[in-house]
Amino acid sequence: MTGTVPAAAPHATTFTTYSPATGEPLAEHPVHGPEEVSRAVARARAAQAGWAALPASRRRALLLGWKKALATELDAVARTIAEETGKPAGDAAMEVVLTLEHLGWAARHAWRVLRRRRVGTGLFTAHQRASLVHRPLGVVGVIGPWNYPLYTPMGSIGYALAAGNGVVFKPSELTPGTGVLLAELFDAAVPGHAGLLTTVTGAAPTGDALARSGVDKLAFTGSPGTARKVMAVCAGTLTPFLAECGGKDAVIVTADADLDAAADAIAWGALSNAGQTCAGVERVYAVREIHEELCARVVERAESLRPGAEADASYGPMTLPDQVAVVERHVTGAVAAGGRALLGGPGSVRPPYVAPVVLTGVPEDAAAMAEETFGPVVAINPVADVDEAVERANASRYALGAAVFCRGGRAGAAIAARLRAGAVSVNSVLGFAAVPALPFGGSQDSGFGRIHGEEGLRAFTSVQSVTVQRFSPPVALTSFGVPAATRERAVRLARALHRRR
Ligand code: NAD
Repeated sequence: MTGTVPAAAPHATTFTTYSPATGEPLAEHPVHGPEEVSRAVARARAAQAGWAALPASRRRALLLGWKKALATELDAVARTIAEETGKPAGDAAMEVVLTLEHLGWAARHAWRVLRRRRVGTGLFTAHQRASLVHRPLGVVGVIGPWNYPLYTPMGSIGYALAAGNGVVFKPSELTPGTGVLLAELFDAAVPGHAGLLTTVTGAAPTGDALARSGVDKLAFTGSPGTARKVMAVCAGTLTPFLAECGGKDAVIVTADADLDAAADAIAWGALSNAGQTCAGVERVYAVREIHEELCARVVERAESLRPGAEADASYGPMTLPDQVAVVERHVTGAVAAGGRALLGGPGSVRPPYVAPVVLTGVPEDAAAMAEETFGPVVAINPVADVDEAVERANASRYALGAAVFCRGGRAGAAIAARLRAGAVSVNSVLGFAAVPALPFGGSQDSGFGRIHGEEGLRAFTSVQSVTVQRFSPPVALTSFGVPAATRERAVRLARALHRRR
């Protein structure tokens, strides 16, 4: 347990992490059980009281100090991410950069978003002064995935801390080292608040223990299947739950779009990080007039890409060994169902790497179109018009992100308004994920709730409404002493006023 509570007894078990690229062992980490998780939560609870009592400016300064430490140690953090996930060093460094942007925004804006706010009163409450305040929840449990092991959980950790909470973080068992380093840097940069952020390590049972530990909210990022299990545990104690799950993001390309820009963005959105991005591009709907040309330009870009372990590789290996079989099933199934492989195919799967696969004409009910592939595979299907593209994009059980390529921002925004996705980028892919002020999250199998932005700060608070009576009302309606005639007069007055409009 980092951040760190001495163990009651020596750890009974440890687990080993391995390099996804070479299979070499990387490190040993303790398996934290229910007792240690509970202790971490108790410690975070004790530390949280002092943290919440700090002036907002002091919390901001301390969080910015942590950001500075992360920036100073960028290379070490990126190295750990690269080792654990297999992604190229440059991609890992960009993940740290994105995280710094978000942490900085949360630290700087928390006081403005969460400060006490006066609200107006009503006809019978004019004697009250009314305000609302966002108060920290207490201790937030964060369960994270492995694909962006720093950036993704920090969308909850950084915002929850900025809102005045303590945090216990359970990173993926594939990437515990990143979580451990994060908490170590916090302890060094934020002195005097030991235990406020603790990383506990282990697999599903450790996450399960966190869900049962009495945290005041659980922020989960991972697959919808696991989200259902964790949510069911949280239901037992009515623990609030936030779910950031998978996606099957669609890109719509209209006839007047800049095809070079679209092809470039589609290739990157689908293939970077080996396609292991929750809001990565998995489906493209291109109107018939430009479909063939778009396919040719995506293939042209994709065929120059090369997965590998070298620093200059385009992307790395599949981080989760089991995911390789899923990707293979989707590609094989798409071709068997009548889809055409324009680049690669079932033979592109050479564990732990998968070379780029570009498909077309894949039936909408094939797994490659309906399920999250989470690999470097993209299907570009032709559609008659934008209406059909919107219909198909929306006909998914996922609703996380989407993108539209067309001429003119206004036309793009009009198409965006018809999409069910939680976030839409016009003339770029994943643009929304890099803007800290924009909330991020989806619906249906993509989960619910929002991280990032003002909503992401409020997600880790509870609203308290307060009225302060300024003077005695001429007619005290909240008293048994109100004469019946007074009450009737009040009802007549209200009826007359409300009937007017
Ligand atoms: P996963 O569901 O296998 O695991 C996620 C986390 O849950 C891990 O830390 C795991 O140890 C833990 N866990 C597993 N079983 C548990 C249980 N019974 N109780 C408590 N915790 C448990 O997901 P993954 O493979 O780590 O991540 C990939 C998934 O995450 C993909 O579906 C991807 O789209 C999604 N994802 C979503 C976002 C987003 O913001 N929407 C971001 C990144 C990844």
